[in-house]
Amino acid sequence: MTEARVIAGTGTGANRAIIVTGASRGIGAEIAAELARRGRRVACLSRTGARPDVADADALAERFLCIPCDVSREEDLRGAFKQVAERAGGIGGLVNNAGIHRDGPSRSFSTGDFEDVLRVNTLAVFVASREAYPYLVDAGSSLIVNIGSFFDRMGVKGGAAYCASKAAVAAITRCLAAEWGRKGIAVLNVAPGYIETDINRDYLNDPVHGEKVRARIATGRPGMPADIAKFVAVLFTERIAFLTGETICIDGGHSISL
Ligand code: NDP
Repeated sequence: MTEARVIAGTGTGANRAIIVTGASRGIGAEIAAELARRGRRVACLSRTGARPDVADADALAERFLCIPCDVSREEDLRGAFKQVAERAGGIGGLVNNAGIHRDGPSRSFSTGDFEDVLRVNTLAVFVASREAYPYLVDAGSSLIVNIGSFFDRMGVKGGAAYCASKAAVAAITRCLAAEWGRKGIAVLNVAPGYIETDINRDYLNDPVHGEKVRARIATGRPGMPADIAKFVAVLFTERIAFLTGETICIDGGHSISL
């Protein structure tokens, strides 16, 4: 099969690489892999620069361009994007997935921890989008997908920093979508519910906490990274240009169940 035939999607941006931050493991690794399975070239960014930790990584290796990049460092982002544009013939999309989770009682939660969460989960989303902007304009038609969280609308005890960081991602999504729509750039916020990854595996496997969470999810189980990855990949392959600025929750019915 020729390169041209395996490239899915429409618009001039479809031949260019999609950048996925936090692509070494968890949800980001699965998003990178799913995009690659659908024929896209994927730039996989993380602090380690490790290849996505997925079972078929060897088969997909030719489609991955792995680059070490700490998203909380502007110079890292700038350097990585330049490298991707040069080595992959341009940037056709961006998935702002890298994120960290810290929680604790608000009465003693440190300013430093709060700032760290905002720097990775929120500020990096804005900076990466801003740095991607000229490349995405050049692509003609493109998409930014932010990975937020259904916690953005919840009152979570001990979760002030994380919830605030994700609520801000939804706001950034709306503002960039309004500002860049006429440049052919759509911006969406995908907000997962509980997805089993390193970020929460211990919590979900704890007999008390895990059972409580399962009881509240309509589907009866937490999601898997593939649940999010498939949806994100579809957004890139079936570009719906009129869909922009929205937060789309994928949480197994958790936030709508009583
Ligand atoms: P993981 O902890 O499993 O993976 C996090 C990824 O981000 C890793 O690839 C890590 O790679 C990378 N990363 C962390 N910090 C940085 C940084 N400063 N610069 C670059 N890369 C970084 O997390 P998940 O897969 O669970 O989460 C992915 C996203 O989904 C996050 O934004 C999270 O908030 C969100 N989310 C997750 C939910 C869940 O239940 N799992 C629910 C709702 C939202 P490395 O260590 O190599 O840098």
